[in-house]
Formats: sequence, C-alpha cells, structure tokens
Amino acid sequence: MNIALIAHDKKKDDMIKLATAYKTILESHTLFATGTTGKRIIEETGLDVHRFKSGPLGGDQQIGAYISDNKMDLVIFLRDPLTSQPHEPDISALLRLSDVYEIPLATNAGTAEVLLRGLDAGFYEWRDLYRGKGREDLPL
Ligand code: PGA
Repeated sequence: MNIALIAHDKKKDDMIKLATAYKTILESHTLFATGTTGKRIIEETGLDVHRFKSGPLGGDQQIGAYISDNKMDLVIFLRDPLTSQPHEPDISALLRLSDVYEIPLATNAGTAEVLLRGLDAGFYEWRDLYRGKGREDLPL
C-alpha cells in the first residue's frame, strides 16, 4: 500500500513516535511524506520515504494529486488544530479528496494507531480492487 505521512510542526514529534512504534508495519509499505515530515522520519527512524515538497510549498497538493490519480491508499495527517496554517486551503483540499476517493484518513495519532493496526490485520484488502484501476466507477 502507498501511505502518505504528514505532520504539522507541533505534531512532528508525535509522528516520529508513531513511525518508530509502527516501524515494522510501515517498512513493508511504500511511504510518502511532505518535505519536512519526511526528512525527520528518514533521519530519526531510518524508514525509506519518498519526499514531496514541504506542505506550505505545495506538498499537500502533490499528495492530493496522487489521491486523485488513485495512487494513495492511506493518509496519516497529524494536524495541529490549535495553530492557523498559511496553506489552510491546501489542507482542506487534501482532506476533501480523501473523502471523495474514500481513502482511509487519520487526522490524529489515536486514529492513526487504529488504522495502522487495521492495515497490519489486512482490513484494507478492498483497496486492492481499486488500485491501478481508473475511477470511472465513481460518480464524480
Ligand atoms: P512539512 O509539511 O512536512 O513540509 O512540514 C507539512 C504541512 O505543514 O502540511
């Protein structure tokens, strides 16, 4: 599965904790991240991560494009709900696209744990039906 990892600045330490705790699950998947989040994950966990641009510089939109191209299977986006972000429209767009394409999305570490454990248990096999397929089956 292709997994996107994004964390706002005040949530980056939580992302590192999560990625460290679930490294054995994450390392058997293909990981993508926004620029700074990805850099920290690579440096602090040793996981292999494809890095997009930093979120405020278009990274959220790049991940959104992957979602709309049916190339992302799960999104873990540790949002900071207490700090306003300059790229709020991009964040909203990413959350919206996850819902449009029914991509499992965690916006906090609690949900992220459940999704990662579900991933490990094979709960997302239905995604295999959609991966690599056009999305003409969706009424968009
Ligand atoms: P970053 O982007 O990983 O480059 O910090 C995350 C964001 O702010 O959306």
